[in-house]
Amino acid sequence: MKGFEHLEEEIREWQENGVFRPLTELESDQESTVKIGGRKLIQLSSNNYLGLTTHPRLKEAALEAINVYGAGTGSVRTIAGTFSMHEAFEKKLADFKHTEAALVFQSGFTANVGVLGTILTDEDVVISDALNHASIIDGIRLTKAGRRIYQHADMDDLKKALEETQTARRRLVVTDGVFSMDGDVAPLPDIVELCEQYDAIVMVDDAHASGVMGKNGRGTVDHFGLHGRVHIQVGTLSKAIGVLGGYVAGPQVLRDYLIHRARPFLFSTSHPPAVTAACSEAIDVLLEEPELIDRLWENTRFFKDGLTRLGFNTGKSGTPITPVIVGNDALAMKLSDELIEEGVYAQGIVFPTVPRNQARVRTIVTAAHSKKELEQALEAFGRAGQKLGII
Ligand code: PMP
Repeated sequence: MKGFEHLEEEIREWQENGVFRPLTELESDQESTVKIGGRKLIQLSSNNYLGLTTHPRLKEAALEAINVYGAGTGSVRTIAGTFSMHEAFEKKLADFKHTEAALVFQSGFTANVGVLGTILTDEDVVISDALNHASIIDGIRLTKAGRRIYQHADMDDLKKALEETQTARRRLVVTDGVFSMDGDVAPLPDIVELCEQYDAIVMVDDAHASGVMGKNGRGTVDHFGLHGRVHIQVGTLSKAIGVLGGYVAGPQVLRDYLIHRARPFLFSTSHPPAVTAACSEAIDVLLEEPELIDRLWENTRFFKDGLTRLGFNTGKSGTPITPVIVGNDALAMKLSDELIEEGVYAQGIVFPTVPRNQARVRTIVTAAHSKKELEQALEAFGRAGQKLGII
């Protein structure tokens, strides 16, 4: 196509490297299994940690909200798009997180971009873990603040960055709570101590810890007992919570400021009633059905042990995200294809989502998986791994 030759050229290269793929179409709802290409596969690629995407209570709440309030809100929050349910849900979230206030964004992505792109000026410095999520990186790209990257989870390097930026008005240290591609947990207590020592703000992105870690899924701050010592908690409503959205939990002053200045909040229409009602119901489910999180962790231990016993390199994960690291991009895609043949959907993840030579198949078990399904998945991994010479 004339004018797009430069894109075609790049795409050809991806095709040659075996990493150009159509989007995978799901033909059913997704719980422990999903229908793809007419076949029922064991689902190991979804962030639906607790199976809440199909929880009857969430579906019921969404339907009722549509019936009462309609399908959409017709406006951004600051004009005519704030319903009472939006405010009530944010109060519920703040209570849940033990913070003064909370503010919901359209997604976790825009929550990170909204905070990082808004609250700092060129007098400030943001200090970020090297493996932080793309939305943190993009948020940092939007700020005028100075930038420092510290080596992944390396506290000596973070200390160095804090020491070298002492002339800044404010320093903000930002980290994923759980790193999305490796499943490892940030050393948050050490980060908090350093930030207290150097008078820096701490921000944690708990996208993969919301609904997964801490009491009733309150996240890494609760998991480590750090309430009141982490200034900004970002999270998503799109993974364990099972619906869509992102939130910022922290002091009231932060909420007030973001409402008036965060561009993704100001200039994008608010969540439909069905989304907010289902998210709100999900928090109640977290409080009232703690057995879901227990089951998630039981399944996590079982599956992780199984993969390790088979001889796969599963990195340093301490959460339900378990990477099966194979190195080569094409090999990761082949393993994923082979698993699909075996009845398991676990997606290959390649550069630029992970660094070069770190390609992997990423697995996520959920509370919805049965032991039998996880055993079947492990058998499939064993056969595919042997066939491709990985184990
Ligand atoms: N932060 C992290 C660490 C994530 O993994 C994700 C999801 N990929 C996000 C933020 C974005 O969340 P959402 O999907 O709600 O936009």
